[in-house]
Amino acid sequence: MSAPLAPRFSPPPLIDWAGIRADFPLIAGQDLIYFDNAASSQKPKVMLQAMEEMLSHSYANVHRGVHSLSQKATDQYEAARKTVARFINAADEAEVVFTSGATDSINTIAFSFGEAHIQPGDEILLSGMEHHANIVPWQLMAQRKGAVIKAIPVLDNGSLNLESLDALMGPKTKLLSLVWVSNSLGTVNPIPYIVQKAHAYGIPVLVDAAQAAPHMPLDVQAIDCDFMVFSAHKMCGPTGLGVLYGKRALFENLPPYRGGGDMIDRVSFEKTTFQGLPFRFEAGTPHILGAIAFAAVLDYLSNIGLGHIEERERQLSHSLRSQLKADFPQIQLIGTAPDSVSVVSFLLKGHHPLDVGVLLDNQKVAVRTGHHCCQPLMDRFGIPGTVRASLAFYNTEEEIQRFLLALRKTIHLLR
Ligand code: PLP
Repeated sequence: MSAPLAPRFSPPPLIDWAGIRADFPLIAGQDLIYFDNAASSQKPKVMLQAMEEMLSHSYANVHRGVHSLSQKATDQYEAARKTVARFINAADEAEVVFTSGATDSINTIAFSFGEAHIQPGDEILLSGMEHHANIVPWQLMAQRKGAVIKAIPVLDNGSLNLESLDALMGPKTKLLSLVWVSNSLGTVNPIPYIVQKAHAYGIPVLVDAAQAAPHMPLDVQAIDCDFMVFSAHKMCGPTGLGVLYGKRALFENLPPYRGGGDMIDRVSFEKTTFQGLPFRFEAGTPHILGAIAFAAVLDYLSNIGLGHIEERERQLSHSLRSQLKADFPQIQLIGTAPDSVSVVSFLLKGHHPLDVGVLLDNQKVAVRTGHHCCQPLMDRFGIPGTVRASLAFYNTEEEIQRFLLALRKTIHLLR
């Protein structure tokens, strides 16, 4: 098994990107340059319309009512689950659980898998570029169960040290939980290769796709991961909603994480029995409106084509990266892995990222500054944080040029 090479660019398809930008009310026709998409993306009109439609015509609680309105709402909520299953190519929609976000999804598996499978001395393998959401839940579980956390090291260019995998994986390794696309560096990890490698050791894999799902086609069966998580709000959908995919064989035998309504089969004071997938992991009233609006957004993204979205975002971020590299000797790029998408992280030498962010904001440029919830990664590079520009398909080359002008002015002001 050899590590895959970085993909090559192909010519852009003919798509009406200007028309697509017009679908986003907050940025259409505005002079705000919104380059903070990795934190949360903007919302298309179809999402607002789906919410209005649902609230005006089909709103009720789900799974509980015999009345027609509740059944209508239930049908739409369950149709949304099917849409997500199609979007990620799950074998069965019961493998798709709605959560409150990627963080909640990881906490669910960390707790449940920990309860079912972890003994003192067992190891959980992460990587040095994880978001805190994919570190802290495992630490909490490890403290409870006496497990040990290990991490795949990060190389100087911001890619993973794949040569360390064999030394890190062994009979004690009970799960690998790994980010697909780094939210701080934009590095795209070779997930299919790593999953194959982990499976050769009998290790199940959770893929944190929070920054991959917005930018590339997902196929959980092709990747063959055991769990995958992502958040709707980073892919043009609503906040407060996330997805937890789990391959049935492993997922259906895990114990529940939260207790309450919807996840029970029968309750008595002596004993409670639980539902199967997916309801076992959906305690309480779910985010009905969010799931239905998210399904409308997924259809919208699928109509554009995730492959086209990926192509465009790779081109935009490649353009930004190469111009920063060629024309700004004062800028240090953090993360120069051969394969990256959307995120461009950098430092202005001699200046704190926060100062750069504030001066850019004064020029109507929204970027993120700080540690991006990746403090171990910042420690690895010995820096307090970075300035992060993260692009989406509705951004434009013209915005990149205006961003670079604003950056020049910032450098001038800080001189
Ligand atoms: N994982 C990654 C890679 C992320 O970038 C984020 C958020 O930035 C998360 C997990 C957590 O997502 P959320 O806050 O939506 O739960």
